Formats: sequence, structure tokens, C-alpha cells
Amino acid sequence: MLAESKVNKLMDQDRGGWNREVIEATLLPFEAEIVQKIPLCNTNQPDTLTWPFNPNGEYTVKSGYKFLQTELQNTRPGQSDGSRLNPLWQSMWSLTVPSKVRNLTWRAVPNSLPAKQNLVKRKIIQGDGCDVCHDNREDVLHALYKCPRLEALWHKVPTWNHSSLRHVTSFIDLLGCVFAENREPELFSMVIWALWTRRNTLKLGKSVGTLDQLLNQARDKLQNCAGIGVVIRNKCGQAMVSLSQRIPLPYSAVEVEALAARRGLELALETGF
Ligand SMILES: [Zn+2]
Repeated sequence: MLAESKVNKLMDQDRGGWNREVIEATLLPFEAEIVQKIPLCNTNQPDTLTWPFNPNGEYTVKSGYKFLQTELQNTRPGQSDGSRLNPLWQSMWSLTVPSKVRNLTWRAVPNSLPAKQNLVKRKIIQGDGCDVCHDNREDVLHALYKCPRLEALWHKVPTWNHSSLRHVTSFIDLLGCVFAENREPELFSMVIWALWTRRNTLKLGKSVGTLDQLLNQARDKLQNCAGIGVVIRNKCGQAMVSLSQRIPLPYSAVEVEALAARRGLELALETGF
């Protein structure tokens, strides 16, 4: 439906305005809000091309240059759109975390991650039940925080299990509390990213590590190191030698695995196997 749709499908031709019902059923909440703020002409007019950054609608190199400069400013930390989210954007963009983590958090705040509830609104899927607990609707807040199957993780870090967080009703409020109350926001963002990745891996039917491992890996990545573990067993499966070690974080997960394999062979040599 979306591929064939045109903008005028979102309009109520009879009343000369936006069709709120269709917009809210088709777009994500923050998109719907933006669209409905666009004023519409009251009379039917032929379509024309227009450049919105010049009062007369015509493109000039000068206005194009100014537009690009503004775009550049807006992508810099602390230079967001001046809305009520500004302090949160500033805090978020100043986090010392990988850019993929910042981007994921940035997308989660306006509810623009493809959690099942959002996909149902876009008519991409039909059911919005959580695949993990099978007991609740999966919106962004549920997938990343409120799912009962994540409780064990939050109990591990009491600062994230605080009542001010437990009672929030939106992801933006959750993140607002984490930042305002300085509840380890960098580690929290790392965990949120890891949880979303884990959720997507589970959806593909692949196995994932435990929540304990997820938390430890998030801590390691934040400290720019990785943990490797080696266990040498005899033919009965009994552990003979084990080793755990932290190593500086290499470029990729494949490299971590290669280094772990190498350390395992070194350990075997060192212990005479
Ligand atoms: Zn759930």
C-alpha cells in the first residue's frame, strides 16, 4: 500500500485538510505530528515544484549553500532543533559511545524503531505481541526496558531498577530519567543498543548470549576492552584448565574470536597439552 501511495492519500479532499485518521494509522507518531503541522492550501491547485528555503519558492545557489550550512550545524552535538528535546539531544550526542549506539538511542527517542506496535500501525504486520514474554504489546519501551524477561538484567544494576524508571510510560521519559539523574547513561545506551541487537537476532531464530554476558560485554566495550575465556576439557568433558582474560578491544567481533582461539592454543602449549 505504501509503495503505491501518494501524498494526497493523506489528505481529506472534501474538508481541504490532512486526514488525521489515515496519517495516524500510517505514519509513526513523530512523523504524523510533523506532517500535520504542514499547512495545506484550501483550494485545489496544480502540482508545482517549489524550493522551501526561499520566500518565492525558487532555488538559488546562495539559499542552497545556506541550507547545507544549517544542516551541518544541526548534526553537530548540542545544535539540535531547539525543541523541548534539546537538552536530551545535547546529552545524547555528547555521550562517549560508538556512533551506532548514539544513532540507535536517537531513533528510539521519537519512537521510530521498528518495534512490532509501530509495524502494525504501518500495516506491515498484524500482531503486535511481544515474541519474548508473549504477554504484552511490543512497543519500543517494552522491547528495550519493560519486558518482564529483562527484569533479571535491571536487578543487576540497581540504579536502573529505581522506581523513577520503573514507572515511566515512554522511552523518552525513561532516557530523560537516566540522564537527569545521571544513572550511568553511557552504559545504559550501550545496553539498549545490545538489547535491540539481541532482540533482532532472536527474531531471526538465532541463539543469543545471556543477559549477564550482554551486560559484561557492554561494560567491556565502554572500557574499550573485550573479555575472552578458554576452557580445556578432557575426553569426559571435565574442565582441566581454564583462563579468562581482558584484551584491548579490536576492530571487530571476528578479531576477538581469532584472538581467543590463539590464546586457547597458547594456553594448551603452556600447560603441556
Ligand atoms: Zn515482552
